[in-house]
Amino acid sequence: MSKKNFIPIAEPSLTGKETKYVLDCLESTWISSKGEYINLFEKEFTRFTGCKYGVSTSNGTTALHLAITALGIGSGDEVIVPNLTFIASANTVAYTGAKPVLVDVDESTWNIDPVRIEQAITKRTKAIMPVHLYGHPADMNRIMGIARKHKLLVIEDAAEAHGAEIKMNITMKQYNNVTMRGSTVKTDKPLWCKVGSIGNVGCFSFYGNKIITTGEGGMVTTNDRELAVKMRILRDHGQNPRRRYYHDVIGFNYRMTNIQAAIGLAQAERIRYLINKKRQNAGIYNHELSHVKGIGLPPEAIGTKNVFWLYSILVDKPYRLTRDELMDKLAKKGVETRPFFHTLHTMPPYFQKKQLAVSEYLAGHGLNLPSGVGLTVDQIKRIAGLVRQYSK
Ligand SMILES: *Cc1c(COP(=O)(O)O)cnc(C)c1O
Repeated sequence: MSKKNFIPIAEPSLTGKETKYVLDCLESTWISSKGEYINLFEKEFTRFTGCKYGVSTSNGTTALHLAITALGIGSGDEVIVPNLTFIASANTVAYTGAKPVLVDVDESTWNIDPVRIEQAITKRTKAIMPVHLYGHPADMNRIMGIARKHKLLVIEDAAEAHGAEIKMNITMKQYNNVTMRGSTVKTDKPLWCKVGSIGNVGCFSFYGNKIITTGEGGMVTTNDRELAVKMRILRDHGQNPRRRYYHDVIGFNYRMTNIQAAIGLAQAERIRYLINKKRQNAGIYNHELSHVKGIGLPPEAIGTKNVFWLYSILVDKPYRLTRDELMDKLAKKGVETRPFFHTLHTMPPYFQKKQLAVSEYLAGHGLNLPSGVGLTVDQIKRIAGLVRQYSK
């Protein structure tokens, strides 16, 4: 396969000030985890999400582990996690000694099913971890309602959904009265929230193929000042901020470097463009694939904005090929795809015999198509054309 015809699943777009900022880091010699880009990136990205505080980390997995630890979750506790997600969602719960309780997902959004969350709550349940899978917001209205009713924490795994939005069932005015966060918003406009700003914490990944990247990197966003302070301390070995080499608690080294943050700042400056591009590309795919029998298109529930991190389809009868056969055919034409995640409950660390039918179905039939922002219209049409061709 010539490089010219190969279409990768997703590649980073680094055509803004990424190079300039990284060179600036190198020239300044501030290449470790102190330096001005860390603050600048935390501020820029946090402002974008609509949150007050952002704590950058070495990757998305450490962001989740830092947040769960800072929330005081540990041995003997249970955290409700969707059965269809990347393994880090469950692993970071397990790292703390708590138990991830796996719950099936909703077939219309592919995200954790609120009805099944309520059924899974026990005396040990401490938190719910909705994951905004492939860029589509989980049903945060119902999840926050359940959390309030049962006094549970909410940890949003927003690693795949930077900038995705959901219309909340309260107005701006009510929101400000409830949370006393903002000052004096008077309008009764409906409240559209970005994911990662709704639960107690939002956890983001900046891995190379995510919506924005820092190479490796992550961030926890929150509106809880005390929690942000705690996370900054835990991120830095639990060191007392006023007393060098004095450690009040066992912490971690989960810091982001100034070089990562330099890339991140340049990416954050372009995030609206990058998301618009993802949504445009999804629109073209939808148009091209809308009448192919047996091909299911990605969801966008009413009152949500999907950022289509990976443009995803479902492949089932009467389509002529199975998902895996279609993957092979596309690979031979230089089109890189990915199958959906395996369900957590079918893998050794979390194995359970029970059936979780919706996540099992999606895991067996879901396919991610190339989703990089560098895709041209012609490339998308070529990929969709191949999918249509094999349907006959
Ligand atoms: C990517 C991802 C993570 C982990 O992020 P890393 O930066 O790769 O550690 C966690 N959860 C989900 C859902 C992800 O997609």
